[in-house]
Formats: sequence, C-alpha cells, structure tokens
Amino acid sequence: MSTLFKSIDKPLETLVNESGKNVANILCPKENCQCIILRKNTATLVERDGAKLALPITSVPATLLKDNDTHFWHVSNMMDFENVGFSTTVGTTKYLSCADCDLGPIGYHDTTDPKEFVISISRAKYNF
Ligand SMILES: [Zn+2]
Repeated sequence: MSTLFKSIDKPLETLVNESGKNVANILCPKENCQCIILRKNTATLVERDGAKLALPITSVPATLLKDNDTHFWHVSNMMDFENVGFSTTVGTTKYLSCADCDLGPIGYHDTTDPKEFVISISRAKYNF
C-alpha cells in the first residue's frame, strides 16, 4: 500500500533516514498509478524555491497542491530516477512528470545546473 504525502504524520521525520535520504519508494501521486519515480535511499531531502512549480497548467490534483512547496527530493543524475518524464521547459526550468500517466509537474530540472533534479515531497505517494 502506498500513502499520500498529506496522510503522513510528521513527514519530514518519517520519510528521511539518518543520512537525509528517502526511506520509502517515491511514487506518482495519482490514484491507481503505481509508477515508481525514485527507489528508496536514492534521493536527498533539500529545500528549494517552490515558486518554480507554479505552472499555469498542471495536472496535479488541487488537493495535493500547496502554496509553497519548499521541500524536495534531490538527485544529481537523471539515471538515478527509476522512471520520470519531461514536459515543457519554461526559461531554464524543465518540468518533470510521471513517465506512465504524464501527471505533472511533480518536480523540475534546472537546465543551468546539470546536477539539479528535484521532485516535490508533497506531490508524491510513498511506499514503505
Ligand atoms: Zn502516474
């Protein structure tokens, strides 16, 4: 069973191990979509500018959207993703989406930094 971010009590403690990595598999937040975006223990919790995710068009359910997502899972290599899709690029921000159902944006890649790939911690389901 996977759990939506908003159903997790104290997520910043529950989802992170002592090395700052994800303790659970990170899945697409869409109901019935079981696409794994990141395997457990592959991404590091970081803080970033959440305003970058404020796209005019989004397929992420409104119940998952927060005004300002500032916590993200970071990986430095695209190959670290289990599955991920790319959607539009606006300026230097390339938006990431679910590889199976295209739901997005769930995160972004900053094209000015080849090691900057982040997935919003709230736009995800978790499989412990
Ligand atoms: Zn999906």
